[in-house]
Amino acid sequence: MNSSIFSDDFRPEPYWWDETPRTDCDEKVLPEEVDVLIIGSGYTGLNCAIETARAGRDTLVIDSQSIGWGCSSRNGGQISGEIKPGFEELQHRYGESKAFALTKEARNALEWIQSFIDSENIDCDLRRCGRYLAAHNPRQFQQLCDLAENQPRGLEQPLTVVESRQQATEIDSDYYHGGLVIERHCSLDPAKYHQGLVERVLSAGARLVGYCEARSIQRERSGFSVLTGKGSIRAAKIVVATSGYTGSVSAWQRRRLIPIGSYMLATEELDIDRVQRLLPRDRVFSDTRKLVVYFRQSPDARRILFGGRVSVFESDPVKSTPALRQEMLRIFPQLADAKISHSWMGFVGFSFDYLPHLGEHDGLYYAMGYCGSGICLASYFGHKLGRQLQGDTGARIAFNDIPFQTRPLYSGKPWFLAGAVQYYQLRDRFI
Ligand SMILES: Cc1cc2nc3c(=O)[nH]c(=O)nc-3n(C[C@H](O)[C@H](O)[C@H](O)COP(=O)(O)OP(=O)(O)OC[C@H]3O[C@@H](n4cnc5c(N)ncnc54)[C@H](O)[C@@H]3O)c2cc1C
Repeated sequence: MNSSIFSDDFRPEPYWWDETPRTDCDEKVLPEEVDVLIIGSGYTGLNCAIETARAGRDTLVIDSQSIGWGCSSRNGGQISGEIKPGFEELQHRYGESKAFALTKEARNALEWIQSFIDSENIDCDLRRCGRYLAAHNPRQFQQLCDLAENQPRGLEQPLTVVESRQQATEIDSDYYHGGLVIERHCSLDPAKYHQGLVERVLSAGARLVGYCEARSIQRERSGFSVLTGKGSIRAAKIVVATSGYTGSVSAWQRRRLIPIGSYMLATEELDIDRVQRLLPRDRVFSDTRKLVVYFRQSPDARRILFGGRVSVFESDPVKSTPALRQEMLRIFPQLADAKISHSWMGFVGFSFDYLPHLGEHDGLYYAMGYCGSGICLASYFGHKLGRQLQGDTGARIAFNDIPFQTRPLYSGKPWFLAGAVQYYQLRDRFI
């Protein structure tokens, strides 16, 4: 370990876990049979379970690790309700009305999660703080201005262009060339939100079992038999909610997902004044690079939480920290003396068309592929899927009929990623 950059109490774990340690739910014995078996205990799985359990379906959620161990307790806590492809791109692919419906549906997810958290009274530091989308060069700033001026009709939202000379009100850095404030984006503490979901799943009567990997699924005359690390279980319906961690147990979904590492660090505790000088408005931040970085204050305003895609497959956060810290110092050289107290990573599920997907294939229900915007999308998709599998046709959404594509010879191991990352690094320098 490079001792000079790490604090004495450094932990290679998500900062969020300090306040919200992982729930074990390490029961040894599984029920013989359930109505609904959900594989994966992140936002997708738990929101789905809330729906099925509240509707009276005997529901079990299993996870191969501790409950919520995947992305849902280790993300950046930035909520956007945006999908990666812009309106023009979607229009080109699917026509104007479908492009409208898809963009609107993702925005609905942003509205939905806020009212869900409010109505369920989940204590998770939800803040309607807005996002500063920072331009990494003048050309990108111009593109942000165009975006603000030409919002698709019916999809307008409050956007404020910030010129680089006014930028000090948003960020104490000369790195960016102005930016765009997206007022509706929010922040929360992802692990506290996840814990709130755990409590609601349990009080709805569903069960959670951790350290219980689903290893194979066999179709039976009615329903399925699933072999897990803790024995076999029969289920009438199965939901695959494994996103970036999807493995061979659901090979069809695995062939459609690209797991991409995302890396985060937390600085040690700093003076609140110092943190607030760096990011005076407590917004969430991301930038216009393809290899995006994202950052924010911690909810208590004592730390900077900084994330980015600084590696492809590295799963040891100690090894990825120096490169990530270097990215942070490019933007905030003032943090050169701040030690790193936490560093962690997770695998985000990307799809080939950069859209999230949900539906049913061969009797298995699934929702996944949120491409890094999973807080509200995974929650909303899980919620809708929970209703769909009970036959509620009114719960279908615009994403239901989008084909979930794969590529020839792709089986789930993204051999092409290293080359793609190099290409994007180069592209970000010039475009
Ligand atoms: C570092 C990082 C930062 C991020 N930042 C943001 C952000 O700021 N905003 C945002 O919107 N999104 C962000 N994301 C993405 C977001 O967290 C995810 O899209 C979302 O949490 C996905 O939820 P999920 O429930 O679908 O999957 P996950 O939460 O990943 O859960 C999948 C679970 O499936 C389990 N599993 C896999 N295979 C099996 C099996 N065979 N048997 C049993 N269990 C299995 C895994 O152990 C895992 O716990 C970030 C992700 C990372 C990693």
